[in-house]
Amino acid sequence: MRQIIDAELTWTGEKFERGIRVEVDESGAIGRVGSAGEPTVRLQRQALIPGFSNAHSHAFQRGLRGSGETFPAGSGSFWSWREAMYGLVERLDRETFYTLCLRAFEEMRATGITSVGEFHYLHHSPTALDSQERDYAFDDVVLEAARDAGIRIVLLNVFYKSGGIGVPPSRPQRRFVSDGLKEYWSNIDRLQSRASSTSTIGAVAHSIRAATPDEIEELHRESRQRGIVFHMHVEEQPKEIEDCVAAYGATPMEILLDRLTLDEKFTAVHCTHSTAENLRRFFASGANACITPLTEANLGDGIPDSAPLLDSVSQLSLGTDSNNRISMIEEMRWLEYAQRLKQQSRGVFRTANGANAVSLFNAATRGGARSLGLPGGMIADGNVADFAAIDLDAPSLAGSNESNLLEALIFGSSEEVILATCIAGKWRTHRQKPIL
Ligand SMILES: [Zn+2]
Repeated sequence: MRQIIDAELTWTGEKFERGIRVEVDESGAIGRVGSAGEPTVRLQRQALIPGFSNAHSHAFQRGLRGSGETFPAGSGSFWSWREAMYGLVERLDRETFYTLCLRAFEEMRATGITSVGEFHYLHHSPTALDSQERDYAFDDVVLEAARDAGIRIVLLNVFYKSGGIGVPPSRPQRRFVSDGLKEYWSNIDRLQSRASSTSTIGAVAHSIRAATPDEIEELHRESRQRGIVFHMHVEEQPKEIEDCVAAYGATPMEILLDRLTLDEKFTAVHCTHSTAENLRRFFASGANACITPLTEANLGDGIPDSAPLLDSVSQLSLGTDSNNRISMIEEMRWLEYAQRLKQQSRGVFRTANGANAVSLFNAATRGGARSLGLPGGMIADGNVADFAAIDLDAPSLAGSNESNLLEALIFGSSEEVILATCIAGKWRTHRQKPIL
């Protein structure tokens, strides 16, 4: 149904403005910003922002929250955490997997996330653990859970072949693997035939551990032909780089730079240990990097070099990754804070005019939409009508005004300020405004 939204404040790309009406058409897209029609949705004492785009998630890992946070055998690492994650992989049946995905997606919505790039590799039913049976049944479960949560999804469906460079898949990894590219693409064809107005499909090479350079090159070439986005974990761990150099004589990023025709549809997730020089070459191609500050902090992964990121800030996106904590507001804050702690200085991701919060906000909105290939991330004519409504009476925002609301939101608040989200024109209330 056509609607005209009238919020007290509306984010128009550079600032919050008063008196902006946003028209949403029947198809769930923004018809016009600044429409003069009579409002049908009045958001009193609320600010309208574009919904957050979560560019990297593994929804089922929500099932690990609260686990693996004690260290009786000494300090842990990404690799010890991965063993715990594989334990979960061995336990999940269809019902428990659906429940975890639904829980994660609903929690995302309630924190203002309106689209998710679900980097999905747990494809097969548990029977795959002890047989060669590959049914890709869990791909459909992810789509079902997203539909039931009402969240927009880009199913980033993973190609996974080996258990490490030159290593066969382990028992839990049998639930991830494809026999080859032909099987992978025929499953993508099947999924694309099921896509809806709020679900699309993207291609993925899990990492240099799970696919060879030849397979990655071929996968990427086909994804370009199909015009779909392509994501890959890149240089999250020093060991991944060492193993890759030992096997192929080059780092994962160097292999991508040398062999692939990178463009704005390509997203490298993490780039934590990438060299500044490689990252500059990578961004010059137009490609995106997705940073996941809370997961990287939780896993003790490290912090990427900020200098090349600063030069290409419009190519940055954010992801909730392991979903140990789901909060895009906190991801924005920690993108900046990790660098402040490392550099002992403030205002790292600042614009030419000295603004800071807007760069972080753009990563969580426009940058995420760019990475996922979605016409969104901005309240602009023709974009998807995906929004979040902010409570201007929230105690954590008290004392701020339209000129510093964005800063108060990012550095001083959390999901308690998100009253409602709208996806393709359909609203859902998450919290009631307190009765004053
Ligand atoms: Zn990941």
